[in-house]
Amino acid sequence: MLDAPAKRQAIRPLPAAVVDRIAAGEVVSRPASVVKELVENALDAGASRITIAIEAGGRESIRIVDDGSGIPPDELPLAFTQHATSKVRDDAELERVATLGFRGEALASIGSVSRCRIVSRTPDDEAFAIACDGGDLGTVQPAAGNVGTTVEAGDLFFNTPARRKFLKAAAAESAQVTDVVHRLAIPRSDVAFRYERDGKVVFDWPATSDPTERLVAAWPGDLRDRPIVVDARDGEWQLRGIVARPEHAATSARYHHFFVNGRSVQDRSVQHALREAFRGLAEPGRQPAAVLMLDVPPGEVDVNVHPAKSEVRFRQASRVWSLVNATVREALLGQDLAPKARPTPVDPPPLPEPRPDVRETLADYFKQSLQEEQKSLLDVAETPVETEASEPASPAPPSRVMQLHNSYLVVEGDDGMEIIDQHALHERVLYEELLARVRRGPLESQRLLVPAIVEVSEAEADRLEEVGPLLAKLGIEAERFGPDAVAVQAFPTLVAIRRASTDPGEFVAEALRRSPGDGDESAIHEILDLMACKAAVKAGDPLTSAEVEVLVAKRHLVPRGSNCPHGRPTTLRLTIDDLEKQFKRRGF
Ligand code: ADP
Ligand code: MG
Repeated sequence: MLDAPAKRQAIRPLPAAVVDRIAAGEVVSRPASVVKELVENALDAGASRITIAIEAGGRESIRIVDDGSGIPPDELPLAFTQHATSKVRDDAELERVATLGFRGEALASIGSVSRCRIVSRTPDDEAFAIACDGGDLGTVQPAAGNVGTTVEAGDLFFNTPARRKFLKAAAAESAQVTDVVHRLAIPRSDVAFRYERDGKVVFDWPATSDPTERLVAAWPGDLRDRPIVVDARDGEWQLRGIVARPEHAATSARYHHFFVNGRSVQDRSVQHALREAFRGLAEPGRQPAAVLMLDVPPGEVDVNVHPAKSEVRFRQASRVWSLVNATVREALLGQDLAPKARPTPVDPPPLPEPRPDVRETLADYFKQSLQEEQKSLLDVAETPVETEASEPASPAPPSRVMQLHNSYLVVEGDDGMEIIDQHALHERVLYEELLARVRRGPLESQRLLVPAIVEVSEAEADRLEEVGPLLAKLGIEAERFGPDAVAVQAFPTLVAIRRASTDPGEFVAEALRRSPGDGDESAIHEILDLMACKAAVKAGDPLTSAEVEVLVAKRHLVPRGSNCPHGRPTTLRLTIDDLEKQFKRRGF
């Protein structure tokens, strides 16, 4: 968190050498950037309450009122002077900037492109005002006002029509202002923020001692549902924040905020670390909603990279990645992540059609023929192979379960029921078991009586050289067979037994297609994923009650049981409460 300097220093021009070291930049390009600079100044001045009011998206007027330190009257003209600041004096201080501003350019720029007026009062003085009209500096005048500072910027770009033309419609500009205000207010739960647009209060957030309250404030209501709190330390580094449940991962990074030492920062590597932490819990390509705040010693981070200060450079970038990834991952693993079912009232169902009994018989028939196929295809070991269903059920609280439509398992729980997608859950269970198993050593495999030959592209055959050792760990022995074919000699027992329909050749071809050329770690996930998917029971597979029980019990024994390896939920929860609401048994 940023602390305002204990004692305010006077505004002074920066030495030329320091000016040269500051990444110069256009700080004032649109209303949002004006708001950002002015609110940052208020925060740097130690304000405890800040009001932001804009008219017509900020094109007509921007007014920021704070109750901070104020500016002494004799320094007011310097506030509008370029490269004059009270925050940095020399190179050494530039190295460890602890305030949001430090360039001493914002007010000078704003004063040069708007009709700007500052009214300010320090605790030791009366209020004084100064105006700067398109760069024309007025004189310091006595005024009226409370301790603190009000800066008003009107008629933005009135003297540069070309730039004024580049402003977007009021609605678009005001959306950007809102975003900026969010980014500034979220990490500062110790400061009250009020935001008014065209005379209407958009929000009025009181200061709060519970930081989570402020962190979720900018999220829409459903994202605020049971946020997962993260709090981790790594030496002097601290990472705190909240993560929304995986079901809320969005198509854009809109609800992702990252702050370094209280400064909103865009960092692709952090987004990546976050997405990786959600791997298998949210659908691929989705951006988890998270508000993360990293505090590091100022020397660890270079903020002087980007003129708008939205990018920083870390001395230890990989440490940032690991801290974010491990912290979020661990926080997620400790959670029950089953999303709530959203029941919708339904019309009365049509009368059920008489269901032909042949279905069951057909399923049996397929099972048998698959088993035969499997025998002819594979040299099945004589000794019984351990499979999921033959393992003893792990102790789990007795609950009533039933399979519906040969696809869903409905489990009675204390406060309602859970509906499980049998394929998705089994896929996750197998995936985790395979992963744990592979980490102990290569999977058991069976030699095929006749090697399975499969045609692949030449590039895929080439890739075998790289992926081969990984496949061997997974119990797959495969060799190149000519320029564009692969011969599979051995295949993992587990997959072969579970799903005889899995063709070893096709499997290896697909594994080669899927394994990206970016390292073992992601390739192993892809291939395990494929294995789990092939070996898992499918929708439509009838299960015995013993199989159902084992599957349901295992759900709590494997990590990330709430989602399948692709990140889709395995389980939906429907509480008695939800049901009572839907049946209108409540609320009268
Ligand atoms: P910087 O913030 O980089 O120092 P600015 O041009 O934004 O540059 O502000 C110039 C100086 O004016 C600041 O260093 C600060 O001393 C003073 N100042 C600006 N806004 C405020 C404010 N709201 N309260 C107190 N002092 C302020
Ligand atoms: Mg500033």
